[in-house]
This record gives sequence, structure tokens and C-alpha cells, in this order.
Amino acid sequence: MAAPNTATQTDLARRYENFAAIPTTEHVMCSVNSSEPAAVYAEGPSPRIMTTFWAFTILGPGTSGDGNSCRQYMQRVGDALGSCQECVTNWHRYRTAFLSKAAE
Ligand SMILES: [Zn+2]
Repeated sequence: MAAPNTATQTDLARRYENFAAIPTTEHVMCSVNSSEPAAVYAEGPSPRIMTTFWAFTILGPGTSGDGNSCRQYMQRVGDALGSCQECVTNWHRYRTAFLSKAAE
């Protein structure tokens, strides 16, 4: 999927930096090992989940992101989804809503 045309270079850089700032010891799609307060999970996706989805728009399959960064991104998401049921649940629960929101 293409990045929204209205995004500026600054927006795109911020999406990458926010994702890169998630410690590698923590899951990208859930609260396991997370320094995020658990309370934010009560309603809707947490900021971390939104960060991971936004990064998908610049680093996911079919985007024009830097090859090495794209590989690292897909590796991290793949590791989380391959090892943690909560990450899988969050991915499927929020992905469709995010994609329709991002396409606006
Ligand atoms: Zn997880």
C-alpha cells in the first residue's frame, strides 16, 4: 500500500523514528515487556500499536522505504506475531480500522 500523498517528509521521518525508538526487548504490538502504562490498552489501540501501523505505511511490503530498514521492520513485526498471541490478536483487531483511517 502506498503512503498517503499528503504526508510530508517530516511526517515520514517521524513514523520511522517513533518505531525505531521502541526498545528491541519489547513487543511492537502489545504490552508485554512494555514500558507503556497498561491503562492505555483499555480503549482502542495503544500509541505503540499505532506507531507500528504507521511505520507499516513506509516500511511494509510494497513501500519505497530503505531496504535495510524495511527488512528490520518486517523482522520485528514477524518476530512479535510469531511468538506472542497478544500481538497477533492486536494486529488483527486494529489493522483494518487503521488502514481505513490511514487511507482517508
Ligand atoms: Zn506481544
